[in-house]
Amino acid sequence: MTTIVQKYGGTSIDGREKILAIAERLAALRRIGHDVVVVVSAPGDTTNSLLDDATALAAEPNQRELDMLMTAGERISMSLLAIALNSIGCPAISFTGSQVGIITDTKHTDARILEVRPDRVVRELQSGNVVVVGGFQGVSTAKNVTTLGRGGSDTTAVALAAALGAERCEIMTDVDGVYTADPNAVPTARKISEISFEDMSELARYGATVLKEDAVRFAEQNGITLHVRQSGSDTAGTIVLAEPTAPCPPVTGLSLLEDVELLTWERVPAAASARIGEFQDRVKFVLTLGSQTVVAVERAAMEELLKESDGSMSVRRANLLCVVGSNAGSAVCAATARAAVEGSGEELIAMVSEGRSTVMAVRPDGARGVLEALHDVFFPSSRSKR
Ligand code: ASP
Ligand code: MG
Repeated sequence: MTTIVQKYGGTSIDGREKILAIAERLAALRRIGHDVVVVVSAPGDTTNSLLDDATALAAEPNQRELDMLMTAGERISMSLLAIALNSIGCPAISFTGSQVGIITDTKHTDARILEVRPDRVVRELQSGNVVVVGGFQGVSTAKNVTTLGRGGSDTTAVALAAALGAERCEIMTDVDGVYTADPNAVPTARKISEISFEDMSELARYGATVLKEDAVRFAEQNGITLHVRQSGSDTAGTIVLAEPTAPCPPVTGLSLLEDVELLTWERVPAAASARIGEFQDRVKFVLTLGSQTVVAVERAAMEELLKESDGSMSVRRANLLCVVGSNAGSAVCAATARAAVEGSGEELIAMVSEGRSTVMAVRPDGARGVLEALHDVFFPSSRSKR
């Protein structure tokens, strides 16, 4: 029998009709003989409103309690979906991340999965149940409930697929795949049928929210092919895999990361320099020009970094635009991207080209316009569709 892990995002599972429709589709998968594990996100905007409640009570909420609170959203989805499945005659049981053996480190609100002990899931599948799992959560080595960072249900799905040796891991979302740019921002963006793990994780790192970067990396490490599909639709989505079957285009896609701060030091204090290394994913690039250093960091992480500074730096808000693909880090691609930014009349504040990407910092107000201009240049045939 084939084991399928499907993950449903928050917009896909928001409301009774959607839950019932998902239950019907899952029941159909069971009827044709698949073992089915479903990972669910919190409905709609629940996680954000839980966060708002916490920050209304305390500017810096206790992190352990915040994790306890945030996992509540996924519990709503998982139990409602299991109720719906049972009500249509499809036996199902729901579990928290802790109950299905997702063991994490102790870093509250941004924990890493250390191990998955899926015995309970296996037993329930063997006894004929659809297993519904609350995404985005686990239990730490200190036995506290943890969450895996925003968007972490993708990571749960991939980790379970790896631990179960699942034949398929499907990420069901509100768009029908990964696009050459966010289709909400660039109407001419095109669906990508296959994309490599490398390019997908780079797009996710620089703002594409369709998949979480961690989940893509985890999938790559464990050889799990991902299928990104639209919930409730049978159209082919995007396959994320090690080696796309078609030749790689020089540029695969574009992404936009908002809420970034550029910190510029004439000379970086040693303490700040040491901290920059610890920020890992939240530092987007470090650019050194002689003694001057420019660090692009997510706004949410900036406060921490500022504590280490002696005030000798300047801070500027920016958005990052990223061009990704097999040739996207080349001098030719960089020159094309630069010309597109300048042609759109925007200031190019900083630019880093390496490996499979070119990243550019621009003013937040101008970023969307530049994204469209870049798309026109790198995916020119889309113009004719306008
Ligand atoms: N509900 C969580 C979030 O909003 C996790 C997820 O959606 O994957 O970030
Ligand atoms: Mg997501």
